[in-house]
Amino acid sequence: MAKPKITAELLRELPKTDLHVHLDGSLRPSTLIELACERKVKLPAMSEAGLYKKVFKESYRDLPEYLQGFAYTTAVLRDAEAIEQVSYELCRDAQAEGVRYMEIRFAPQLCTHDGFDVLDVLKATARGIERAEKEYNRKPAIRSGAEPAFRAGIVVCAMRFFTEGFSPTYAEMLAALADLPREQVYGIASEAVVRSAIKARDELGLPVVGIDLAGPERGYPAATHKRAYELAHAAFLGKTVHAGEDYGPESIFQAITDCRADRIGHGTWLFQASRIEDRSIRDRRSYVERLARFVADRRITLEVCLTSNLQTLPVLNELRKHPFRKMLQERLSVTLCTDNRLVSRTTVTAEYEKAVEAFKIGPGPLAHLLVYGFKRSFFPGSYREKRAYVRQVLDFRDAVFARHGFSVA
Ligand SMILES: [Zn+2]
Repeated sequence: MAKPKITAELLRELPKTDLHVHLDGSLRPSTLIELACERKVKLPAMSEAGLYKKVFKESYRDLPEYLQGFAYTTAVLRDAEAIEQVSYELCRDAQAEGVRYMEIRFAPQLCTHDGFDVLDVLKATARGIERAEKEYNRKPAIRSGAEPAFRAGIVVCAMRFFTEGFSPTYAEMLAALADLPREQVYGIASEAVVRSAIKARDELGLPVVGIDLAGPERGYPAATHKRAYELAHAAFLGKTVHAGEDYGPESIFQAITDCRADRIGHGTWLFQASRIEDRSIRDRRSYVERLARFVADRRITLEVCLTSNLQTLPVLNELRKHPFRKMLQERLSVTLCTDNRLVSRTTVTAEYEKAVEAFKIGPGPLAHLLVYGFKRSFFPGSYREKRAYVRQVLDFRDAVFARHGFSVA
């Protein structure tokens, strides 16, 4: 009998997670055009092909160019209808490629204006998720328990940096706190966002499961947001931090120390001793080894976004140079994510296809890799429910592998 192969079809059918996906980076291009027309937002092109050519490219010069597209996507996400639609479509697109669990992240404070606050934004997002969950989960195989249901949660992003132009909420805050050092205002803004996240979960029953910190790392340390993360920790929200993306291992250390991060967004430069800038760290090699050991031992999960990293980090011009191979070798808890389905022009299945090919991942390691996302998710339910759900995912995963001629159980 011919040896079975890991095909795109198998990868699509396998149950997957996407724990790191930005709502405002993952619109359907057709929806962006439709919303822009209705809301009189001017785009650089009004056709999908034009948008792909001018804004959402295959490759970018650097991170600033990558981020340009967000100016257009956030400009259309300013009302409940648009936000609900985009959140609903994101879930439907993920479902169509076998994603069973997703955590949608974004900064709701960027969508607010007079009479439309953070809680309104989160309500609209949750409505989109709920509608997509209901539609998908009425499949007979899910109702009979043969397949795991689709579930999704919201991760609210605080920002390392912002200006008046980011949103009216931020403009008001900067005006009111003009006497304080900027850094302190960033910290206060994060506390406000975390309070809203807690309120959304506890008073409105919305599926807000965690918080994140986004924005440039260099010059904007995670330590500024320590108090905000303490609030989240005290409320038992999940904690993730974008770190080690365009800055070195110390940034990851800060995220897990000052912010007690359960997961790290990217963590690309975890092993890169040469990127350490803190002069008090004398033995860089052993610092990095100990840090990696700590991250591995505590099962702090790295949310790895391969395509996005290749697009924003010019030094990674080839996938084989990405430290993902070392992350696997060192037995770290890692999960593949899209970051931005539109801006990075990718899907979870495509991320797996690339990883399997570039890093020669066999069926056994692939089976393990698929599970980390489910196990380390901020699942919105009790621990017993989460365990039962993960069990169901494992059984379904093995059944899909078996259907394709593999035995991984
Ligand atoms: Zn991200």
